[in-house]
Amino acid sequence: MGETIGKILFSEEQLRNRAKELGKQITEDYAGQELVVVGTLKGSCIWMADLLKEIEMPVTIDFIQASSYGAGTVSSGLVSFKKDIEANIYNKHVLIVEDIVDTGNTLSAIYENLKDRNAASVEICSMLDKPSRRVADVQAKYIGFEIDNLFVIGYGLDYNQKYRNLPYISYIENVEEIQD
Ligand code: 5GP
Repeated sequence: MGETIGKILFSEEQLRNRAKELGKQITEDYAGQELVVVGTLKGSCIWMADLLKEIEMPVTIDFIQASSYGAGTVSSGLVSFKKDIEANIYNKHVLIVEDIVDTGNTLSAIYENLKDRNAASVEICSMLDKPSRRVADVQAKYIGFEIDNLFVIGYGLDYNQKYRNLPYISYIENVEEIQD
């Protein structure tokens, strides 16, 4: 896709290899159990597709969408739900697939919301984790990569709804470098 946008942090190959490792681990951990994989829209779409291809057992998939209100880059912790899952997860094992855990506010609200429906278990698989930014007490069991406090785009992650389709994850030092 033409010239690289930003500075590459993870190539497609690195991301796919990591999805392969985690998919294998998830396959082992959930062997013989009924698993519902719930992707968080929109950011997890590409990572979720990679991961699903590496899970070697029948699973059901669903999607949920929520976002936290915030002024600028400060997340307030108030989360609004825009789309709910369709599956009944009562007594089922649920794996939330997330793009990136930043403050953790959004993910924590999604986690509590799904947990309240009496699922057998609720775990999280996040493509990226920014632990230095954490505010909410939420822990992903499976993490693709830990990163520093950088603003990243690509592989599902956007800047003003664009760049989600970049086949790599890059970081932006100066937003003027990229077109809105
Ligand atoms: P949190 O509630 O954890 O603060 O926010 C999580 C959401 O903010 C993520 O699911 C993601 O959509 C967005 N986000 C957090 N950090 C980044 C980042 O570095 N780049 C992009 N594109 N989105 C981010």
